[in-house]
Amino acid sequence: MLTFNALRAANLARLPLFKNAQGEVAHSMPDGSDWSIGEWVMAFVGELGEACNIMKKMKRGDFSSAEIHKAQTALEHEFADAQTYLDLLAYRAGVDLGAATMQKFNMVSRRVGCSVMLNPPIPIAWINPEGNVLTVQPTLNRDRWTALYAL
Ligand SMILES: [Mg+2]
Repeated sequence: MLTFNALRAANLARLPLFKNAQGEVAHSMPDGSDWSIGEWVMAFVGELGEACNIMKKMKRGDFSSAEIHKAQTALEHEFADAQTYLDLLAYRAGVDLGAATMQKFNMVSRRVGCSVMLNPPIPIAWINPEGNVLTVQPTLNRDRWTALYAL
Protein backbone atom coordinates (compact mmCIF):
# COMPACT_ATOMS: atom_id res chain seq x y z
CA MET A 1 0.00 0.00 0.00
CA LEU A 2 1.27 3.44 -0.90
CA THR A 3 2.14 5.74 2.00
CA PHE A 4 2.64 9.48 2.10
CA ASN A 5 6.30 8.91 2.95
CA ALA A 6 6.82 6.60 -0.02
CA LEU A 7 5.22 9.13 -2.38
CA ARG A 8 7.38 11.93 -0.95
CA ALA A 9 10.57 9.86 -1.30
CA ALA A 10 9.75 8.90 -4.89
CA ASN A 11 8.80 12.47 -5.77
CA LEU A 12 12.08 13.81 -4.40
CA ALA A 13 14.06 11.11 -6.20
CA ARG A 14 12.34 11.81 -9.53
CA LEU A 15 12.23 15.59 -9.36
CA PRO A 16 15.85 16.22 -10.54
CA LEU A 17 15.39 13.64 -13.31
CA PHE A 18 12.00 14.85 -14.53
CA LYS A 19 11.96 15.87 -18.20
CA ASN A 20 9.56 18.14 -20.01
CA ALA A 21 7.79 17.22 -23.24
CA GLN A 22 10.87 18.39 -25.17
CA GLY A 23 13.05 15.82 -23.39
CA GLU A 24 14.86 18.48 -21.38
CA VAL A 25 15.41 18.35 -17.62
CA ALA A 26 12.44 20.31 -16.32
CA HIS A 27 13.92 21.78 -13.15
CA SER A 28 17.15 23.71 -12.76
CA MET A 29 17.08 23.07 -9.01
CA PRO A 30 16.95 19.44 -7.87
CA ASP A 31 14.58 20.28 -5.01
CA GLY A 32 12.10 22.12 -7.25
CA SER A 33 12.96 25.49 -5.77
CA ASP A 34 13.24 26.93 -9.29
CA TRP A 35 9.42 27.02 -9.22
CA SER A 36 7.64 29.33 -6.82
CA ILE A 37 4.94 28.12 -4.48
CA GLY A 38 2.44 29.69 -6.89
CA GLU A 39 3.84 27.67 -9.79
CA TRP A 40 3.50 24.45 -7.80
CA VAL A 41 -0.08 25.47 -6.96
CA MET A 42 -0.65 26.01 -10.69
CA ALA A 43 0.64 22.50 -11.46
CA PHE A 44 -1.62 20.96 -8.82
CA VAL A 45 -4.71 22.88 -9.88
CA GLY A 46 -3.94 22.10 -13.53
CA GLU A 47 -4.23 18.40 -12.76
CA LEU A 48 -7.50 18.95 -10.92
CA GLY A 49 -8.72 20.81 -13.99
CA GLU A 50 -7.85 17.84 -16.17
CA ALA A 51 -9.83 15.58 -13.82
CA CYS A 52 -12.77 18.00 -13.85
CA ASN A 53 -12.79 18.07 -17.63
CA ILE A 54 -13.12 14.28 -17.77
CA MET A 55 -15.89 14.33 -15.15
CA LYS A 56 -17.66 17.09 -17.09
CA LYS A 57 -17.58 14.92 -20.20
CA MET A 58 -18.85 11.94 -18.18
CA LYS A 59 -21.71 14.03 -16.81
CA ARG A 60 -22.54 15.37 -20.26
CA GLY A 61 -22.68 11.85 -21.67
CA ASP A 62 -19.84 12.28 -24.09
CA PHE A 63 -18.53 8.76 -23.64
CA SER A 64 -20.13 5.67 -25.15
CA SER A 65 -20.42 2.55 -23.04
CA ALA A 66 -17.37 1.27 -24.92
CA GLU A 67 -15.40 4.41 -23.98
CA ILE A 68 -16.45 4.84 -20.36
CA HIS A 69 -13.88 2.39 -18.96
CA LYS A 70 -11.09 4.27 -20.73
CA ALA A 71 -12.47 7.56 -19.38
CA GLN A 72 -12.55 6.13 -15.85
CA THR A 73 -8.91 5.10 -16.20
CA ALA A 74 -8.02 8.57 -17.47
CA LEU A 75 -9.81 10.06 -14.44
CA GLU A 76 -7.81 7.85 -12.11
CA HIS A 77 -4.63 9.05 -13.76
CA GLU A 78 -5.57 12.70 -13.33
CA PHE A 79 -6.36 12.16 -9.63
CA ALA A 80 -2.97 10.48 -9.30
CA ASP A 81 -1.28 13.41 -11.06
CA ALA A 82 -3.06 15.82 -8.70
CA GLN A 83 -1.97 13.79 -5.66
CA THR A 84 1.61 13.75 -6.91
CA TYR A 85 1.67 17.51 -7.44
CA LEU A 86 -0.06 18.12 -4.10
CA ASP A 87 2.76 16.24 -2.41
CA LEU A 88 5.36 18.34 -4.25
CA LEU A 89 3.50 21.52 -3.37
CA ALA A 90 3.34 20.45 0.26
CA TYR A 91 7.06 19.65 0.19
CA ARG A 92 7.89 23.10 -1.16
CA ALA A 93 5.64 24.65 1.50
CA GLY A 94 7.36 22.69 4.27
CA VAL A 95 4.35 20.54 5.07
CA ASP A 96 4.46 16.88 6.08
CA LEU A 97 1.33 15.94 4.20
CA GLY A 98 0.77 12.64 5.99
CA ALA A 99 1.12 14.18 9.43
CA ALA A 100 -0.99 17.19 8.46
CA THR A 101 -3.75 15.01 7.02
CA MET A 102 -3.85 12.85 10.12
CA GLN A 103 -3.83 15.83 12.46
CA LYS A 104 -6.57 17.70 10.60
CA PHE A 105 -8.72 14.61 10.02
CA ASN A 106 -8.68 13.91 13.74
CA MET A 107 -9.41 17.56 14.58
CA VAL A 108 -12.50 17.46 12.36
CA SER A 109 -13.61 14.12 13.81
CA ARG A 110 -13.40 15.57 17.33
CA ARG A 111 -15.27 18.71 16.22
CA VAL A 112 -18.15 16.74 14.71
CA GLY A 113 -18.27 14.23 17.54
CA CYS A 114 -17.13 11.28 15.45
CA SER A 115 -14.93 8.53 16.86
CA VAL A 116 -13.28 7.71 13.53
CA MET A 117 -9.64 8.72 13.82
CA LEU A 118 -6.46 8.22 11.82
CA ASN A 119 -3.65 6.67 13.80
CA PRO A 120 0.08 7.02 13.10
CA PRO A 121 1.09 4.32 10.60
CA ILE A 122 4.55 4.09 12.14
CA PRO A 123 5.64 3.62 15.74
CA ILE A 124 5.85 6.90 17.57
CA ALA A 125 8.64 5.56 19.76
CA TRP A 126 11.23 2.83 19.58
CA ILE A 127 14.54 1.86 21.18
CA ASN A 128 17.63 1.99 18.96
CA PRO A 129 20.50 -0.50 19.25
CA GLU A 130 22.27 1.84 21.70
CA GLY A 131 19.27 1.65 24.04
CA ASN A 132 18.05 5.19 23.41
CA VAL A 133 14.33 5.81 23.12
CA LEU A 134 13.62 7.64 19.88
CA THR A 135 10.34 9.30 19.09
CA VAL A 136 8.67 10.66 16.00
CA GLN A 137 6.38 13.61 16.39
CA PRO A 138 4.42 14.47 13.26
CA THR A 139 4.70 18.21 12.98
CA LEU A 140 3.85 20.99 10.64
CA ASN A 141 6.69 23.37 10.03
CA ARG A 142 4.70 26.49 10.78
CA ASP A 143 7.78 28.73 10.99
CA ARG A 144 8.80 27.78 7.48
CA TRP A 145 5.22 28.21 6.24
CA THR A 146 5.09 31.70 7.70
CA ALA A 147 8.47 32.55 6.19
CA LEU A 148 7.43 31.33 2.76
CA TYR A 149 4.31 33.43 2.74
CA ALA A 150 5.99 36.48 4.23
CA LEU A 151 8.08 36.82 1.05
MG1 LIG B 1 -2.49 14.98 -15.93
